[in-house]
Amino acid sequence: MPKPKIALYWAAACGGCDVAVLDTNEKILDIANLTDIVFWPIALDFKYHHVEEMADGAIDLCLFNGAVRNSEQEEIAKLLRAKSKVMVAFGACACFGGIPALANFTTRNEIFERVYIESPSSANKNRTFPQTLTRVEEGELEIPEMFDTVMTLAQVVDVEYFIPGCPPPVDIILKVVDLFARGQLPPVGSIIASEKTCCDECERIKEEKKIDRIWRPHQIIPDPKKCLLEQGIICCGPATRGGCGLRCVKANMPCRGCFGPPPEVIDQGAKLISAIASIYQGDGDDGIDRMLAEIVDPAGTFYRFGMAASLLKRKRILQDKRRE
Ligand code: SF4
Ligand code: SF4
Ligand code: SF4
Repeated sequence: MPKPKIALYWAAACGGCDVAVLDTNEKILDIANLTDIVFWPIALDFKYHHVEEMADGAIDLCLFNGAVRNSEQEEIAKLLRAKSKVMVAFGACACFGGIPALANFTTRNEIFERVYIESPSSANKNRTFPQTLTRVEEGELEIPEMFDTVMTLAQVVDVEYFIPGCPPPVDIILKVVDLFARGQLPPVGSIIASEKTCCDECERIKEEKKIDRIWRPHQIIPDPKKCLLEQGIICCGPATRGGCGLRCVKANMPCRGCFGPPPEVIDQGAKLISAIASIYQGDGDDGIDRMLAEIVDPAGTFYRFGMAASLLKRKRILQDKRRE
């Protein structure tokens, strides 16, 4: 009997999700034994035309990591969708936009201006920016168009499953491959994680305490037995889906929210703001101003992984001509 065919792809990604697959160590051999890997650009020398030549639906399972932020990634997402029976958004960037979607707080033009003009290492008097099409003696050179708005995978193509995490934990990867190989994947649309919040799964002591100031993790050494949020460190546990094994909290670091919003929560950032507001003890406007000043990076704190999937989606730009 032929082995199921599996494809792995990275779009706007850091490579960590692919490394997480390799982190399965010797179990990677089980994955290779159970499946036939037909496309995996980071590890194997397949080309796009190999995928184009496949029949529609020829790939049984595609693990797609990374957000979609340029025309090449959008094209390959659509190609892999057509060729795959089951499409999986693999990792926080594919599921929610992840770190790349923090770019939605700015615009492509602002990013180009910063990178190609303002950065201290730039010497670009002629204001030359990347062009999608450049004519040279030998012909035309084409590079992908960078979009203004970073998107989740599901904003581009239909997705059957979501595996959150930055990157997804190894035990969840192995569980998914095992369920897939045995034909026991959960109902379509499932997020393969817990149905609880990180706080629900956290064993730290919670005393229902209020806080009167917010600390950044490097400013204090927290008590390893007590709730980090109640010690004034912003921990995204109340606004984050569980299932990661509390990787960060067990290392005495706050949860940053990489498993995305818990069930029934649409906007992870709004949920976290509400959780912090409910325990912060401040007097009047001064107290609110002080709290806002103590949250040094609100965008990165509340929407570190979820900007593209949030209700905000991106910074509002009036009269812009960007793609939606
Ligand atoms: S989810 Fe995390 S590890 Fe995976 S590509 Fe995005 S930033 Fe990298
Ligand atoms: S806020 Fe963080 S430390 Fe506190 S209970 Fe929730 S996950 Fe644990
Ligand atoms: S504790 Fe939070 S940030 Fe850390 S792995 Fe788990 S969900 Fe992600």
